[in-house]
Amino acid sequence: MDDGFNLLMLKANAKTLGLIQTKNTVEQLVHAAEESQQTYATFLNDVLSAEIKYRQDKAQEKRIKEAGFPYPKYLKDFDLGFCKSISKKQFNQLAELTWIDGVYNLILSGPPGVGKTHLAIALAYHACERGYKSSYTTMQSLMQCLKTAEIDRRSKTKLNRIKKSHLLVIDEVGYLPITAMEGNLFFQLISDLQEQTSIIITTNKGFEEWAEFLDDPALATAILDRLSYQCDRIKMSGKSYRLENRKSFLRRMVKMRFKKNVSAELRAILREQLHKYKRENKDITEEEMKELEDWVAAGNSPYDNPYNGYREDGWPLDFISTIRDIEEENRWFESLSEEEKEELRHPKPSSTFEELDLDACLAE
Ligand code: ADP
Ligand code: MG
Repeated sequence: MDDGFNLLMLKANAKTLGLIQTKNTVEQLVHAAEESQQTYATFLNDVLSAEIKYRQDKAQEKRIKEAGFPYPKYLKDFDLGFCKSISKKQFNQLAELTWIDGVYNLILSGPPGVGKTHLAIALAYHACERGYKSSYTTMQSLMQCLKTAEIDRRSKTKLNRIKKSHLLVIDEVGYLPITAMEGNLFFQLISDLQEQTSIIITTNKGFEEWAEFLDDPALATAILDRLSYQCDRIKMSGKSYRLENRKSFLRRMVKMRFKKNVSAELRAILREQLHKYKRENKDITEEEMKELEDWVAAGNSPYDNPYNGYREDGWPLDFISTIRDIEEENRWFESLSEEEKEELRHPKPSSTFEELDLDACLAE
């Protein structure tokens, strides 16, 4: 039999056995073996290792796809310099993921924009890479799912996946009020997941406020009781992140986003946008207009957010409202006492990185 025929047979056999990688790369594998004069054992081992690696990569891809992240976020991009409420040591502990093996929960609380969603997604993404099955959902979409599981096949599938996950992220808990029926469904789910699935909750609410948005103090206590059985809570204070970065950040962004080679065509478009912007925003002051013109002259659109990449919801989307927001925040900052300013400048790392004392938390 000649080699060509052997290769064809090899491919067909690999296919029958479901060895996709071997089937696709058999020529390279054989060629590499001949070149390096491998032993039979090494060759066979290389073939099997490549197949295993291929399957692991595929499985990881599938885990990430099925987790349902709204967008990817990575631990490597999480800047601890920005987020002063987590120490390097705590961050490393989180990234080790052993807490998932111990079925610990994690509650990330704090105001908008401090990186709660970023950290939650990044941890779950990392968990997918490490072989854990993860699911992401917002509280709102979870409620929708729980209410329609009986009649909607997609909701049922999503719930089944959640129940089989090692890690579940529930984002934005407490942003919207919850009806009594939803509260009970939520309690049921948390009970079902107890001791089998780790949960990361992000919330803008303190524990004492849970009773309010759940509209039922007894239910709130019951849910928190289950969640906090094995749980760490990180209070992410955001003021420092904003205050320390905003003021200088704008300048930095303007500089950073200065584009050297702005084509004549782009310039014309930007000029057009500037006219349109002026027509739409008649209340711009002269000073603001000067800043805006500099921004556009540097090759940026007036509709660009100077914080590009740092905000999806809630923050202003264009240049003028961003500077106004900064000014307002600065005025607010100036109105604080020296003591309060100091505290915002140097927030303390979260001290709550041990098991929660529920009674103390509720009494907060
Ligand atoms: P939250 O969920 O607390 O409202 P996000 O996680 O959505 O805030 O963060 C808002 C934006 O700021 C995101 O684009 C996020 O990537 C970014 N961000 C927040 N904190 C950090 C940080 N410490 N390091 C890097 N990016 C951050
Ligand atoms: Mg968020």
